[in-house]
Amino acid sequence: AGPTPSDFIRDIIRADLASGKYGDRVQTRFPPEPNGYLHIGHAKSICLNFGLAVEFGGTCNLRFDDTNPEAEDHEYVEAILEDIEWLGFTPANVFYASDYFGQIYDWAEVLVTKGLAYVDDQDGDTIRAQRGGFGKPGIESPFRNRTPEENLALLRGMRDGEFPDGSKVLRAKIDMQASVMTLRDPVLYRIRRVPHVRTGTDWIIYPTYDWAHGQSDAIEGVTHSICTLEFADHRPLYDWCLDHLDLPRERPVQIEFARLALTHTVMSKRLLRALVENGTVDGWDDARMPTLRGMRRRGYPAAAIREFVSTLGAAKTNTVTEIEYLESFVRTHHNTHALRRMAVLEPLKLVITNWPEGQVEHVELVENPEDPAAGVRTVPFTGELWIEQDDFKLEPPPKYFRLSPGREVRLRGGYFVTATDVVTNADGNVTEVHCTYDPETKGGNAPDGRKVKATMHWVSAAHAVDITVHLYDRLYAETRPGSDGNDPVVNPASRRTLTGAKAEPVLADTKPGEVVQFERLGYFAADVDTPGTFHRTVGLRDEWANIQKR
Ligand code: ATP
Ligand code: MG
Ligand code: MG
Repeated sequence: AGPTPSDFIRDIIRADLASGKYGDRVQTRFPPEPNGYLHIGHAKSICLNFGLAVEFGGTCNLRFDDTNPEAEDHEYVEAILEDIEWLGFTPANVFYASDYFGQIYDWAEVLVTKGLAYVDDQDGDTIRAQRGGFGKPGIESPFRNRTPEENLALLRGMRDGEFPDGSKVLRAKIDMQASVMTLRDPVLYRIRRVPHVRTGTDWIIYPTYDWAHGQSDAIEGVTHSICTLEFADHRPLYDWCLDHLDLPRERPVQIEFARLALTHTVMSKRLLRALVENGTVDGWDDARMPTLRGMRRRGYPAAAIREFVSTLGAAKTNTVTEIEYLESFVRTHHNTHALRRMAVLEPLKLVITNWPEGQVEHVELVENPEDPAAGVRTVPFTGELWIEQDDFKLEPPPKYFRLSPGREVRLRGGYFVTATDVVTNADGNVTEVHCTYDPETKGGNAPDGRKVKATMHWVSAAHAVDITVHLYDRLYAETRPGSDGNDPVVNPASRRTLTGAKAEPVLADTKPGEVVQFERLGYFAADVDTPGTFHRTVGLRDEWANIQKR
């Protein structure tokens, strides 16, 4: 990979290093909420945070932002740890925001004591309605002027279980007329009697994102707290919360960058969860999912994802990236690394009528033309082969140069064959093609120099291994699914499964997760769980180049 392009975040870090704001420290974090599986968007944040730490000799920690007990589960914690390792990064430390609940609470008491927070007895809807909006004044809560003593007693009562869920909240006392809405007395604590995966029933009040995130950053010593643009409005609040605490060192800064969005893709956890729960896909790791596990099953190499993300860099405005651009990194990677194989997806029998009875020849083909060191493989050639149904036409349309009656073609690495006859079934469909071969064309060239216009892949019927192949189309046919505000509709033809495909014998040795090229058909990943099942990772055609030409 080439050098990572510079961007505004790197500029900020360089300036902070030059001024010594944090000494020589650079500390970032990746803060997922353990309520779902990581997707390609998270990969952008992971590569950025971990990448910056590597580049600047700093530290990047993983912090589980586990402050919402309802949706969180240990299953997700395990999966997130695995997926980060798979992407190629190792957290310096694994932290949990819930480990700071004690400190975060103590800091809430500090705010209350300073007269900077109050307990409000109003319900959520009332508080929301009083917040107002742009150009619309906020309304102060009737509970806003409780004394620090009264607020402290009420906050402790909230913590100690004296009040029912939802009956009180702690709010920061900032400014109900602030032009930044997040500063209109935001909620810091809620009462929720929901057991937490890690803290059990120790706590029945939980801090909001705004009262947990910056505090956790400060506790850990984060210097640059990088998040996506939606949080820009929260930055003044992030600063306000930290400015009113006695911190032992320079506080972190929040920096926002544009989130990754891809065409034909949704990344909202709500929508992804719905696909899993209503059975549209097999699971979070379905090869059509934009999750890292889905992409891994599909055959996307971690290196290609890293390179894609690093090429995009960090930007300050949201854009949508073509999925074909991501695929181009996947294709380029596999073109260099994938071994070549022959497989026939929709087989049609080809019988060579002048082939010596029972003879088996071994054809040598290169493993990978891009990598001579990969060597050669031998492929058995016999008088009964499988070819693609699509590679034979009884009545060839114009410009169709593959096999048809009387037409000569090359069988890749084997011989020239000429179709002579067909066998049809009662419905008139061709079930077998008969041909003759020219023994002089061994290896695929005619000594008399005659040319053929097509080279086709094939598999010896007696040696073929049976495989199942999943072919994929976009999960969403629309370029910008959901951009009209409605829940997007899934492409009903996003997966086509072929159970009767035939492949050359060495394919049986493919390791789980390995990606090979099926000649003329694309790159295919061996399923990580089920031997003999392959997923088409990506086709051979460079669609990204075509998009750029438009
Ligand atoms: P959702 O909003 O669907 O619940 P989330 O984005 O909040 O998901 P988190 O687990 O909280 O998911 O995200 C962890 C980190 O990953 C956050 O810092 C978030 O900004 C970042 N992130 C999430 N999605 C993207 C994206 N599409 N592009 C870049 N960063 C992302
Ligand atoms: Mg979140
Ligand atoms: Mg979010």
